[in-house]
Amino acid sequence: MLNSDFLPGYLSQSENIEELPKQSDVVIIGGGLLGTALSYYLAKAGVEVTLLERNDLNREASGTNAGSFHFQIALHQLTENMTEADDKRLVDETKLMLDAAKLWDDIEKELNADLGVHFTGGFMVAETQEELQVLRDKQRIEEAAGLETHVMTGNEMREFAPYMAPDLSGIAFCPREGHANPLLVGPAYAYRAHELGTKIRTNCEVSRIEQITGNPGYRFKVHTNRGTILCNRVVNASGAWTAELSSQLGLNLPMGLSGLHVNVTEPREFFLSSMIQHIGRRLTLKQTANNTFIIGGGWPSREEKFPLRYSNIWESAAGNAAVAVRVLPMLKDVQLVRVWSGVWAYTNDFKPILGESEKIPGYHIAMVPTGFTLGPMVSRMLAEYMTQPGTQNLLPKEFHVDR
Ligand SMILES: Cc1cc2nc3c(=O)[nH]c(=O)nc-3n(C[C@H](O)[C@H](O)[C@H](O)COP(=O)(O)OP(=O)(O)OC[C@H]3O[C@@H](n4cnc5c(N)ncnc54)[C@H](O)[C@@H]3O)c2cc1C
Repeated sequence: MLNSDFLPGYLSQSENIEELPKQSDVVIIGGGLLGTALSYYLAKAGVEVTLLERNDLNREASGTNAGSFHFQIALHQLTENMTEADDKRLVDETKLMLDAAKLWDDIEKELNADLGVHFTGGFMVAETQEELQVLRDKQRIEEAAGLETHVMTGNEMREFAPYMAPDLSGIAFCPREGHANPLLVGPAYAYRAHELGTKIRTNCEVSRIEQITGNPGYRFKVHTNRGTILCNRVVNASGAWTAELSSQLGLNLPMGLSGLHVNVTEPREFFLSSMIQHIGRRLTLKQTANNTFIIGGGWPSREEKFPLRYSNIWESAAGNAAVAVRVLPMLKDVQLVRVWSGVWAYTNDFKPILGESEKIPGYHIAMVPTGFTLGPMVSRMLAEYMTQPGTQNLLPKEFHVDR
């Protein structure tokens, strides 16, 4: 039973203004979805946690994303000449998505909060015969992994989704896909973590992580604008800034960052309950509960140095809208009313960086590119690793921090 009165929001400032604790078993850097979810799962297992966020909670990627669950295989996961090894990799990656889907099934009950979770399905569309073949190939792999998808063409497609452009070469439909409200999920985790004893300090920027010896029980001194804190274990969950902080310790992470653009339209009568993606072009599209359309899919925004926000680019607004109209022609006279952008961190192989560094014992990283979909699950995996000795096999080798 959900507690409909519970609206996860920012925590009361009364605790936040208290001093930084002098020490903590675990210090988590970053109050996005990964940091807050991890603090919850660790606190639930009885671990002493302090979470440090330089701004407010959930203000970066975790509060600026589109909220989609991406379970179907997407373009970036495919290679030009797919081998048997690629097929196997994709089966594994799809199984991971299915595990994430199971977590999302139960998350509202777990956190006793309405987080806007919906499983109303997702389309992947194709415009050309080559793209249609990709839909068929990926469907075979998804089936092997246990993810239900259906490829439709011609009249079957037009009957199933009459609002789509009738000349698309085909569509894949995945009933399991869906979305949740990104403004609510991270704060709900933080709220519940706080109830379980996690100390959360916002406006607390970590400037340096110092490895120390000679202070029994503590391996790190974390320096912030609000003082220092000793800890045994650090988790860097600082999203797009993960590499910057890690480089101080001599780690060179295989990651990059990019600004992503999102369009929002005026409302129209509700008809689109499923999300739409494109197998060959950059598009994610969905209609929200207040009837507007959110259109994204990886169009870039312009880099600005923190604390400035990434700024929007006209070509991205127009290019993104053009792909949306191509797929859903009825959008052609719908006005764009606003745009936003956020900073997205990715890895070169699109896999998470998750676990403890062998070079720097006690130093952990929690970072994942498809981080709304996978964030809660990888955070729970890391919490299990950190609380149960000998559970290294919970973390796939290809996620390794020192890879
Ligand atoms: C526009 C956009 C759309 C997206 N759409 C989707 C989607 O539909 N589905 C999906 O699965 N994923 C999507 N993503 C990706 C997803 O949002 C991210 O992968 C995920 O939110 C990452 O969470 P995080 O906690 O690692 O990072 P963040 O949410 O960025 O959190 C990191 C936090 O660390 C803090 N921090 C940084 N440096 C310091 C420091 N020195 N000291 C203290 N704190 C620090 C930051 O202030 C920030 O709050 C999208 C991303 C963007 C930008």
